[in-house]
Amino acid sequence: MKIHEYQAAELFRTYGLPVPEGYLVTEKEEAFEKASVLGSCVVKAQVHSGGRGKAGGVKVAKTPEEAAAITEEMLGKCLVTKQTGPEGKIVRKVYLTEVVSVEKEYYLSVTTDNESGNLVIIVSEAGGTEIEETAKLYPEKLKKIPVSVTEGFKTYQGLMAADFLKLEGENRKELQQILSGMVKLYLEKDASLAEINPLVRTEEGALLCLDAKINFDDNALFRHPEITALRDVDEEDPKEYEASKYGLNYISLSGNIGCLVNGAGLAMATMDEIKAMGGTPANFLDVGGSATKEKVTAAFRLLTADEKVEAIFVNIFGGIMHCDTIAEGVTAAVAETGLTLPLVVRLEGTNAEEGKQILKASGLKITAADDMADGARKAVDEARAFHQAKKGGAL
Ligand code: GDP
Ligand code: MN
Repeated sequence: MKIHEYQAAELFRTYGLPVPEGYLVTEKEEAFEKASVLGSCVVKAQVHSGGRGKAGGVKVAKTPEEAAAITEEMLGKCLVTKQTGPEGKIVRKVYLTEVVSVEKEYYLSVTTDNESGNLVIIVSEAGGTEIEETAKLYPEKLKKIPVSVTEGFKTYQGLMAADFLKLEGENRKELQQILSGMVKLYLEKDASLAEINPLVRTEEGALLCLDAKINFDDNALFRHPEITALRDVDEEDPKEYEASKYGLNYISLSGNIGCLVNGAGLAMATMDEIKAMGGTPANFLDVGGSATKEKVTAAFRLLTADEKVEAIFVNIFGGIMHCDTIAEGVTAAVAETGLTLPLVVRLEGTNAEEGKQILKASGLKITAADDMADGARKAVDEARAFHQAKKGGAL
């Protein structure tokens, strides 16, 4: 799960990290008021994306009037950054922070090293830039410092980081405090990434976190209601959010074949098979091993509501999941929403015959598939035919 910069900054604050004074605002009048407190300020669009600076989502205002004007212009605007994709993200909130005179920018992050299962601190003098680019082109500009999950942060790790960043005097102590706070936060809140880009040395000589980003491990959210409360559903794919309410594993993709599958492995294999047949999946959807009729209905509703979808492929291998439950879910969903799309179904395993009977009795126009490859091929063909008919104005 992602959160906004203003929320991450607040968490940083509670862990003793130095962050600029800031206020969240959603109206220009409020912006005028807060900017009057701050003096000149930075107006920052709050969207779940980095790269805002280059996209016009971070602007300096010299007066409260200017802050109000910039806020008005940003609110409701669609911000397209390198990370949002071409569809961009609507700005619904802005964060006003005090202006800081920057002497030097650094990069700092804590993440999980998947190979060792431990944490890794990454520091660089190339702050403020796109770190992925730097990592690719100039890997020597990044220093990775492993941190044990069981032992936590150690002073020597902070010293290594300070040496690499060529910090001196008080800044070395400040970095110790920032890193130890970051690691503590990361571990206590089950984060998957904590990033400060840029961490700056101000002209007054102090270190300050000018940006704040924290991602959390979804699988650990159940034990952090205070983090779950920070969720902003406006920032999420509406279909993925709807799916999460039913406990469905759903990810939107760009293709036109909607897939309803049980089991993550089978879902992956189905997507591969569709690709192999020359098609592209519209989604990854795993209804899980113990899906109920309601869950299947919700899943099917998601597929039919997706405008990209031009054919649906239901590919079920019944184990714990019974094929008749799937069939009931499909017929219930169709009764509710109607079905204008081609539907290809492959049922195999537990209660497959019962499932096929239910679908047959429903009178739905279904293309039956003998196996997964056959189903994928038929779905690709049907989607192509549907697309042609749609283009030709027959539908
Ligand atoms: P991002 O582009 O989404 O990563 O947003 P940031 O919060 O990192 O802001 C973009 C850039 O604006 C930063 O890299 C800084 O260089 C600059 N910036 C933000 N706040 C200030 C500030 O108070 N003073 C100065 N000088 N630069 C700032
Ligand atoms: Mn940044």
